[in-house]
Amino acid sequence: MNLVLLGAPGAGKGTQAAMLVSEFGYAHISTGDILRAAVKNETPLGLEAKKYMDAGDLVPDSVVIGLVSERLKEKDTENGFILDGFPRTIPQAIALTDELSKLGRDLDAAVAVNVDPEVIVKRLTSRRCCKNCGHIGSVADAVCPECGGEMFQRDDDKESVIRNRLDVYEKQTAPLIDYYRGADILKEIEGDKDPKDVYVDVKKSLGL
Ligand code: AMP
Repeated sequence: MNLVLLGAPGAGKGTQAAMLVSEFGYAHISTGDILRAAVKNETPLGLEAKKYMDAGDLVPDSVVIGLVSERLKEKDTENGFILDGFPRTIPQAIALTDELSKLGRDLDAAVAVNVDPEVIVKRLTSRRCCKNCGHIGSVADAVCPECGGEMFQRDDDKESVIRNRLDVYEKQTAPLIDYYRGADILKEIEGDKDPKDVYVDVKKSLGL
């Protein structure tokens, strides 16, 4: 199954993607993760992307479209993929449709995980990530519950940056909901509950 996960930052896209990957083995393509790895390794891409990411702004379309186009050519995506955090603008969505049609593939569904913005601000300011394995936990985790690694707060999970990211989402990414509704592949899910319950709804919406 080829999926796009839509939703504001902090809506739980990464958590749902991880559950789908672990149960069904789809390739997980998170543009945020790819960009963070580039920043960490100080590659030319990372150096360019960092200034946008630190401010909570979007990295230019041409940069992320190139990244995803290359990633979709890799073999592991042939058994299904989940795009998490891409597309985030209408030009990205159009580029994705074009790229997939060149590869003779198609999207099966766009799953939108809906959560109230104030719930998101609370969630993200208390979110902590593991430096070692990337596990997403909370401020309550003194160390990573998966591997014992050190937990840290992403620079873009600070409140002022979060408010900008939510604003960017409303202006640039929310229009994709109508875009995929128009393509008749939109599934809308209530995301303000336990991630396991959200997952049940996600699978039901996809007929899995
Ligand atoms: P995420 O982990 O998906 O919230 O992404 C973190 C940051 O990476 C975003 O705030 C953007 O600065 C950048 N980013 C990730 N995906 C995209 C995308 N599809 N288009 C533009 N910027 C992106």
